[in-house]
Amino acid sequence: MAFLRFLASIALLAAVGMLAITALPLLRTGMSDRLDPGEAIGPLTGTRILALRGDRAACTAALNRAGVAYRALAERVAGDSCGFDDGVTWAAGGARTARYAPAAPPLACPLATALAMWEWDVVQPAAARLLGTTVSGVDHYGSYACRRIYGRAAGSWSEHARAEAIDVAGFRLADGRRITVARDWRGDDAAAAFLHAVRDGGCRLFATTLSPDYNAAHRNHLHLDEAARGGWRACR
Ligand SMILES: [Zn+2]
Repeated sequence: MAFLRFLASIALLAAVGMLAITALPLLRTGMSDRLDPGEAIGPLTGTRILALRGDRAACTAALNRAGVAYRALAERVAGDSCGFDDGVTWAAGGARTARYAPAAPPLACPLATALAMWEWDVVQPAAARLLGTTVSGVDHYGSYACRRIYGRAAGSWSEHARAEAIDVAGFRLADGRRITVARDWRGDDAAAAFLHAVRDGGCRLFATTLSPDYNAAHRNHLHLDEAARGGWRACR
């Protein structure tokens, strides 16, 4: 009897395994093909954005569906550890309104997708709710950089080396105000509340969202990236 139960459980495990093996590629395809960045953020949105890694066609199709104006960048190769083959940058017009400064940062397509959704679903609603205005600009310290983490001589390469990361320094508001991570993060006013809200909302979209709460290296910016690390997300 025990042996029969053992056989039955083995058969059940095999059936579940076969189902998973059959369903996973379908699930993955569905996740990347059907993402519309114009839709609301759901529990699987972050996973679906990450599924766009390595699938330039599906990723640019998602940007097209959402009306994002972008320019595709030529492939860049810089040794084994740096460069990108799915780079885009913002173009004028389209469904996004925040102007990045410096303009036209190179962005791996999944990062661009996440940034567009962050602007629509996190940054602008937080500005309306907490500051009574809209965000007209995003100031940043750069996206693509062929360097290791923290610029060290050895160790892991940064997501910046693949244009999968950007360091956001602050925001320009439509009413003329400026908010910076360096000055406003630790306050107890609306500007600080706004910065914490856009960090918290970023955690639902980016694989990595790091703020001054993480360490001193991030005292003046939010590091946002689309690192592939098997579904684990870093949010601090
Ligand atoms: Zn960074």
